[in-house]
Amino acid sequence: MKPSLTLYLAAPRGFCAGVDRAIKIVEMALEKWGAPVYVRHEIVHNKYVVDSLRDKGAVFVEELDECPDDRPVIFSAHGVPKSVPAEAARREMIYVDATCPLVSKVHKEAERHSENGLQMVMIGHAGHPEVLGTMGQLPEGEVLLVETVEDVATITPRDPEQLAFITQTTLSVDDTAAIVAALQARFPKIVGPAKEDICYATTNRQAAVKAMAHEIDALLVIGAPNSSNSRRLVEVGRAAGCRYAQLVQRAADIDWRALEGARSVGVTAGASAPEVLIDEVIDAFRQRYDLTVDQIETAREDIEFKVPRVLREAS
Ligand code: SF4
Repeated sequence: MKPSLTLYLAAPRGFCAGVDRAIKIVEMALEKWGAPVYVRHEIVHNKYVVDSLRDKGAVFVEELDECPDDRPVIFSAHGVPKSVPAEAARREMIYVDATCPLVSKVHKEAERHSENGLQMVMIGHAGHPEVLGTMGQLPEGEVLLVETVEDVATITPRDPEQLAFITQTTLSVDDTAAIVAALQARFPKIVGPAKEDICYATTNRQAAVKAMAHEIDALLVIGAPNSSNSRRLVEVGRAAGCRYAQLVQRAADIDWRALEGARSVGVTAGASAPEVLIDEVIDAFRQRYDLTVDQIETAREDIEFKVPRVLREAS
């Protein structure tokens, strides 16, 4: 007889409006211009999504100099430094920017503050493409990066009274609040967004994990190791008291031994993980357990972003 287990599905989970739009952009570009269509950086951080688009004719590269002049190129949802579209325009390439509108909003915030003479502090993770893209909206040296509360003590702004902060969109809500508090304590005049720039999808997915944390013996987050928002969900689960919280790309990655003795397992997915991978995980549990599936819903999402006009127009 199979042991019994309850699987709690977090809601919302998985695809956000920015990821959905970015994938649609690649698919529509393939329809409009035919293959190959080049994509600079993984369109979203998920191997399954990238492999499926590759099968349809997308070619993923890391830099623009790997693309020929005469094929369209798409910039990923994470955003790109200003120099990238400028170079594409100089080479007279067709390019489509799939930067999530909520990331573009942060880009505009940074520019507006800079025009008003403020130096920017960005809260984010060094090396993440979104951070490179946002910092790359302003000349080098104009954006100071802080990753932790400790970093706040080490930055040396031009004028401590002329500062503003922005954040990466996929950070931990709680960790960011602590960094913002440290910035405000050291630089009382620092200007910031009314709410941090963490997006609705990140916030909702973290809240859903917190809501289920006390019901579950273990948490599985479906997402890629390079997906910032997925990794944050694991951390949020652990901070909320899950003794076992693990990131898995798909069912084959589940460490069944670690789940031995668990009676209830929570499952969520990062904003770039498709629902088909969640179904795969549920099926894998069903094969091993007498399974009850329940959903813990903490919010409903109905946000949709339009694709750029060039793709809505007939060829
Ligand atoms: Fe946009 Fe947020 Fe999705 Fe990133 S996680 S693509 S900022 S909606």
